[in-house]
Amino acid sequence: MDCLFCKIINRDIPADIVFEDDEVLAFNDINPQAPTHILIIPKRHIATLNDIADEDRALVGRLPQVAAQLARERGFADDGYRVVMNCNEQGGQTVYHIHMHLMGGRRFTWPAG
Ligand code: 5GP
Repeated sequence: MDCLFCKIINRDIPADIVFEDDEVLAFNDINPQAPTHILIIPKRHIATLNDIADEDRALVGRLPQVAAQLARERGFADDGYRVVMNCNEQGGQTVYHIHMHLMGGRRFTWPAG
């Protein structure tokens, strides 16, 4: 599979992994936009948000759960943080394996750019 994040899951390319279980992997973003910037991905390859099937519901539901757990562990859950999932070209998606960005440790503005 020619997918960057599948290669990280398979340890074909290195990443700074911060969480792993049977279903989910989380690792530091290579180009962080906040003091903490972690990508949380399902191990099952799903290309975009448009491709989430009914049977993926529980799996995809794990992504915000892991985000909140990591935010608590890092001490910014109560202050607040930002999670983002970009979809397709206009949404800013560059890697076509769904991922939740967890960003914390600074104040975020709205609307997003
Ligand atoms: P997207 O733009 O698809 O929402 O987010 C893709 C993210 O993946 C970007 O924030 C980018 O910095 C990150 N990224 C791209 N290539 C790599 C890589 O090889 N390793 C890691 N850890 N992050 C990557």
